[in-house]
Amino acid sequence: MKRAKVHAPAKINLTLHVTGQRDDGYHLLDSLVVFAPVHDTLDMNFDTSDLSMTVEGPEADGVPTDMANLVLRAADILGEHLAAHLTKNLPPASGMGGGSADAAAVLRALLLRTLPPEATLDDIVAQLLQKIQALELHALGADVPMCMLNMPMHVRGIGEQMTPLGGIPPINALLVNPRRAVSTPEVFRAMTTRDNPPMPEIPTLPDAAALIAFLKDMRNDMQVAAKAIEPSIGDVLTTLERTPGCGLARMSGSGASCFGLFADISDEELAKTAQTIRRAHPDWWVASGPLGNQFSLGLPTFS
Ligand code: ATP
Repeated sequence: MKRAKVHAPAKINLTLHVTGQRDDGYHLLDSLVVFAPVHDTLDMNFDTSDLSMTVEGPEADGVPTDMANLVLRAADILGEHLAAHLTKNLPPASGMGGGSADAAAVLRALLLRTLPPEATLDDIVAQLLQKIQALELHALGADVPMCMLNMPMHVRGIGEQMTPLGGIPPINALLVNPRRAVSTPEVFRAMTTRDNPPMPEIPTLPDAAALIAFLKDMRNDMQVAAKAIEPSIGDVLTTLERTPGCGLARMSGSGASCFGLFADISDEELAKTAQTIRRAHPDWWVASGPLGNQFSLGLPTFS
């Protein structure tokens, strides 16, 4: 197989508790992670003797195309050659995975290339989990392993302890980014407390309303520091909170992207609400759709 096409779905931290910091500087996290049906796309050609890439798309500005790009570094870690074309829809440095999601998508494609066509989703997840343990992926970033699985999960440690969650009800969401890049290390440096309480075990959540009720007692421990660095995060959160039907508004990752959750809204109403925010804030990035069980969205196709 000479070519692959794969989506890199946006990662959303519904909660992000920062529970400590290791001596080597890595932060300890406790996070409920889901993926959204908005994504970058990678087209890869393996019939080449070097590593190269091109980038285009609405958010391509400033995205590197040399070895600084995690797409190329991911292929390099596996010792593979490829020519990749990245369609960039997710704003860079936005707390939605971005480069990590792209790197994870490349790894998914490269690692699943040899799987027989009759492989089940369970076989695929098992193969990915085994490779994640075997490879030193942390050099690429803490979010890469979770983005490789792109399914709802409880993530602990420095991102390497992943418990896939079957029982998270899909929930409609608005995703809004004020198109202001936020540096993750800068937000960590600005945090005053790193020893916050962890999340409790995630209970059975029968529906979207129960999920929102659970999330309300949880936190994103980076939100206060990120808002101080980038005040437009506060504007986004206020806009989401004031949107009719929004049960919870919170920041994802280290920002500046935020999500608003809607327990009871039709797809049509959600799309209209997104359009209203777009019109009021033409410079913001706005997306909408269900968060939840999207694993198949990130599966590569080969030709
Ligand atoms: P996270 O949600 O993990 O905090 P992020 O959204 O904050 O991630 P990225 O989108 O990965 O961060 O962007 C951080 C920086 O990484 C960018 O400023 C860019 O220079 C670099 N980078 C490397 N590879 C990529 C890529 N494929 N897409 C976007 N940025 C990339």
